[in-house]
Amino acid sequence: MSEHILIVDDDITVRDSMEEFLKLSGFTTRTAKNGENALKLLQTESIDVVITDILMEGMDGLELTDMIKQDFDADVIVITGYSEDYSYEEAISKGASDFIFKPVRFEELLLRIKRVLRERRLSKDRAQMLIKLKQMAITDGLTKLFNSRHFYTQIEMEIDRMNRYRHPLSLLLLDIDNFKTYNDTFGHLDGDKILVRLGEIIRTCLRTMDTAYRYGGEEFTIILPETTIEEAVTVAERIQSRLLSEEFVSMSGETSHITLSVGVTEYSPKEDTASFIARADKAMYLSKDRGKNTVSVLHPKSPA
Ligand code: GH3
Ligand code: MG
Ligand code: MG
Repeated sequence: MSEHILIVDDDITVRDSMEEFLKLSGFTTRTAKNGENALKLLQTESIDVVITDILMEGMDGLELTDMIKQDFDADVIVITGYSEDYSYEEAISKGASDFIFKPVRFEELLLRIKRVLRERRLSKDRAQMLIKLKQMAITDGLTKLFNSRHFYTQIEMEIDRMNRYRHPLSLLLLDIDNFKTYNDTFGHLDGDKILVRLGEIIRTCLRTMDTAYRYGGEEFTIILPETTIEEAVTVAERIQSRLLSEEFVSMSGETSHITLSVGVTEYSPKEDTASFIARADKAMYLSKDRGKNTVSVLHPKSPA
């Protein structure tokens, strides 16, 4: 996969000789005879580096650099004569990655292109790393659902939205039943497999706007925006029955079924976050009290 270089110069002999040299150096090249044509090309092709002359008819090389840096993801190297009235600072301030004087020595040009490409790769790697780190900071390592830190930021955001638009907002809290016994009987690793599988099941039951979180050890929450309490119950029951239909085989070969206790509630306008979450928690404990493997609902106005 060779890098794509676009050469912009109004002098055809410059364009041709530079293109030939860059092709021989292993790059894929395009040429344009002015800034306008260069911008058109950039719209349809992916270009890594643009090499542009400064003095051209119509749009000059600095204006072109400016527009490229605003609208495209390409690096720019500008070329100018010693006598021309443009400075290195001017080119760099427009966003050019490098500056080279005429007459261009191709070996020097090649070195500069390689340096620009190297920095380009590094900054792309850095950007990707940052995305990955941000992702990791909000993800639970075991289940790959979001973590509880992210839950607290998202629930605040959804509550704000709800208070502004008055669309319904529901919350599920799910807790695996007798999980300590399962761990004690089959071991922590088998326990982890249950958590991973439950994470997968939850994901398959979510609609586009729903988000799921590993809230604690074997507790999960799901935020359901634009969802009434009745619809939330349907989601809870779907997760519960999917989990129940799975047969888990331990490493020692024994099979068992896993059940969940779920609490469901809906947000009441203007109430604070803590009381909303506490009600979902209370509903979940109601399910425990009722013998587990069940979904319990608490409406905002239910007596305390
Ligand atoms: P209940 O039905 O009342 O919810 O009982 P329980 O045993 O599920 O609940 P309890 O709170 O007594 O125990 C939770 C257990 O969850 C204890 C702990 O070993 C297990 N657990 C928490 N985090 C993890 C984890 O990351 N991996 C595994 N395998 N187990 C975990
Ligand atoms: Mg628990
Ligand atoms: Mg439990």
